[in-house]
Amino acid sequence: MKRLAVIGHPVAHSRSPAMQNAALRELGLDGDWSYEAIEMPPADFAQLTRALPAEGFVGANVTIPHKEAALALADSASAAATEIGAANTLSFDGGEIRAENTDAPGLLESLGKPPSGKRALVLGAGGSARAAAWALAGQGAMVEVWNRTGERADELVRHLGRTLTASGEEVPNLTAVSAGQARAAGYALIVNCTAVGLDPGDDPFAELPLAPGRLGRGVTVVDLVYGGEPTRLAALAGERGANVVDGLEVLVRQGAASLRIWTGMEPPLDAMREAARAG
Ligand code: NAP
Repeated sequence: MKRLAVIGHPVAHSRSPAMQNAALRELGLDGDWSYEAIEMPPADFAQLTRALPAEGFVGANVTIPHKEAALALADSASAAATEIGAANTLSFDGGEIRAENTDAPGLLESLGKPPSGKRALVLGAGGSARAAAWALAGQGAMVEVWNRTGERADELVRHLGRTLTASGEEVPNLTAVSAGQARAAGYALIVNCTAVGLDPGDDPFAELPLAPGRLGRGVTVVDLVYGGEPTRLAALAGERGANVVDGLEVLVRQGAASLRIWTGMEPPLDAMREAARAG
């Protein structure tokens, strides 16, 4: 049996096992491959992850709070994982651990169209915001980053400046913005990478610098937050005519990219979507 897993803390809520096992069934691999959730506290991450190959594991997705530790643990890493500073996909092969980041291509694939030349607002400065800003700026979007704690947005921009340019200069199409600047601007693409919306009582228009009047036709809104119901941000943007990409679609795309790395096969997106949405 080739074993796969998602490693997190907490991880019980993850939809990845249902989604990836549905994909393995659809590909006819379910007799030889399996995917499970592994709860791992941060203090044990390095030691327990290094022990996985001996237990039959060939790969793992890594989620909160282990993505930076996963990169640090690996023997080799893709350019994307290195530049973003985090990995969500590990492969165990011949005693080596390889780290990759599929959050970034997962976001780009979920957009459908390349974001080049578009003015984009990334909300947040955590791990997913860093992957989103890296992906969008790397594709030539004009990226502005807002975060509740402004210094973290400044640091994100500095970090990507150091890694995206050999000389460590500023990246010309990546800047940090204040709430006032973000509220006043018109964006073609808005990506919510904050935790706002996880609690159904959250009010995105009070907690994020978004004006409802600016969400409408011609605007794409990506809300990485997902749950059973559409988030308030996704629902309102949809009502106003915006093109909405929800967090489950991004989850499916990053999971599909990981599965492609491990199996070399084309992932069955519809089966993955159905399983992820069924929860
Ligand atoms: P993270 O590293 O913990 O970052 C959380 C971010 O949310 C920070 O920028 C934080 O701002 C901000 N934030 C938290 N509460 C806020 C509030 N009340 N008002 C404004 N900003 C607030 O988390 P992450 O890994 O980047 O994940 C962020 C969200 O994306 C989570 O909901 C996660 O579930 C989701 N996600 C989805 C996918 C997917 O595939 N769909 C993938 C990754 C993550 P401060 O810096 O000011 O604290």
